[in-house]
Amino acid sequence: MPIIGIDLGTTNSLAAYFTSDGPKIIPNSLGEALTPSVVSVGEDGTIYVGRIAKERLLTCPENTASVFKRSMGSEKTFTLGDRVFSAEELSSFIIKKLKEDAENFLGEEISEAVISTPAYFNDTQRKATKAAGELAGFRVERIISEPTAAAIAFGLHTSRDISKCLVFDLGGGTFDVSILEFSDKVMEVRAVAGDNYLGGEDFTGVLMEMFMQEHGISPETLTLRDFVMLNKNAEDAKLELSARKKATMSWTFDGQARSLEVTAEVFEERCKTLIARLKAPIIRAVNDAGVRLADVDSIIFVGGATKMPLIQSFVSRLFKRFPVFGINPDEAVALGAAVQAAMKERKEDIRELILTDVCPFTLGTAVSVQQNNGFFRSGIFQPIIERNTVIPASREERFYTMAPNQTSVKVEILQGESWRAKDNVLLGEIDIPVPAGPAGQETVDVRYTYDVNGILEVNVKVTSSGESKRMIIEKNPGAVTPEQIEQRIEELASLKLHPRDKDKNRYLLEKGERYYQTTTGFIRMRIAEELNNFEAALDGQHSKEIEEAAERLRSLFEDAENEQNNGE
Ligand code: ADP
Ligand code: MG
Repeated sequence: MPIIGIDLGTTNSLAAYFTSDGPKIIPNSLGEALTPSVVSVGEDGTIYVGRIAKERLLTCPENTASVFKRSMGSEKTFTLGDRVFSAEELSSFIIKKLKEDAENFLGEEISEAVISTPAYFNDTQRKATKAAGELAGFRVERIISEPTAAAIAFGLHTSRDISKCLVFDLGGGTFDVSILEFSDKVMEVRAVAGDNYLGGEDFTGVLMEMFMQEHGISPETLTLRDFVMLNKNAEDAKLELSARKKATMSWTFDGQARSLEVTAEVFEERCKTLIARLKAPIIRAVNDAGVRLADVDSIIFVGGATKMPLIQSFVSRLFKRFPVFGINPDEAVALGAAVQAAMKERKEDIRELILTDVCPFTLGTAVSVQQNNGFFRSGIFQPIIERNTVIPASREERFYTMAPNQTSVKVEILQGESWRAKDNVLLGEIDIPVPAGPAGQETVDVRYTYDVNGILEVNVKVTSSGESKRMIIEKNPGAVTPEQIEQRIEELASLKLHPRDKDKNRYLLEKGERYYQTTTGFIRMRIAEELNNFEAALDGQHSKEIEEAAERLRSLFEDAENEQNNGE
């Protein structure tokens, strides 16, 4: 039974499997590689995933969710109609869909997956990703960082003698930079850095802002429906600007048809602040890896947003060379995850590849330190595992009691780069009793172990009594126990994914609904007519009639598209 690789993206998700011919992408029920990471709930409780849900984002935004990966492992909930979901649950629907599509394509049951996360995802977010896979019915023993996966796919793909490469991954919502070193069959991740709040969506946001400014629309006046429509317009214009020198956004707001022409030049100018933010993670990764920009042999582009010419010119200016387009930026991560899956299964063709990864953040605790004036100051961050340490890593530090007759020691488990403990992320806390005595008499040994999946375990041991405790993450909002997963699987069992064999037809109906809502006049009437015919044909179950009606609908969609592009 093969293990598949899954790239669970903010915008698009995809799955791949390993063949004797290398990793291959698994097409979904619509025959496409990318499944948009969008989930929608129908009136009868049916769960729609992917393109169908993406259409419904425009026609029923109240029942549809997107961009939830940013909230993985947080307490944020999403209300879809009368149901409430966490980001893990929504992600589990995406994974379930990929699982069904893969099982259908490969003709067998698949029970295990390797899932990728941004390198910069923290402990909680990685655990949440694992939980999402388990909610979808997979065993998930291995989580892989996205840029590492992309580099594996690239490393396998290239026959040239590349030693240091930089993976530049700009997706929908996240930016990741990794520096990797290849030598023969060893691949070493040297450093990673990134920004969890920077991605293609932010560039779409710039176009939305430009449009609103031009027409004096204040963002607060937009309803959810207005927002999704304007967002779609901006997204289309952004894609257009990757292919042409200018694009036109046209949108009817407040009963008035409005438009805005944007040139590539003006767009680039307006994106300056966003582009500037790309630089810091690059510099940090390069410094942490102990290399210079000039030492980087090749730059691998990953993620849909790297297709923007303004990103390409920024990178070329910074590195004074062009990125490598050896591998499809949309598919690299899933392909690499499939290779990792094969490595886990110890597939013959792949056995020799050795891979080392690093921990993306500094992990430490809070301590009190004596100042020059003799007083102690608390809340100072003490690193235990420094960022970009090769993993698996295990480090131990000894700490002393502070006060006389102190009866317990509290170990705060922190992640981050600030010297002030409170500015770092609190992952958990361990309280352990110690025998009372003079200050400094009792000691505790704190051991941090960071495994290959990027998951942290903390052990605290009192030296004198030998009593020890392992981390129980109480304050970790996203942490889910196996029991909770079992319970949630049961709760979610009543919700059914839309049957995949009916996806193609459902997609046409939802798309028809969207065109009906966004057009007027004659074409709108024709769409209604053909939607009606199509539904009747579906009820009648005559495949020839269904196909004919579908064809008429598709050609109407084309007309509608042309009409909209002509600016009305
Ligand atoms: P993620 O990994 O976050 O799911 P992807 O790698 O699929 O994201 O990239 C999605 C982002 O790439 C979106 O913001 C999308 O608008 C953008 N994108 C995709 N194709 C293009 C293109 N041709 N030009 C500009 N942006 C693009
Ligand atoms: Mg991605």
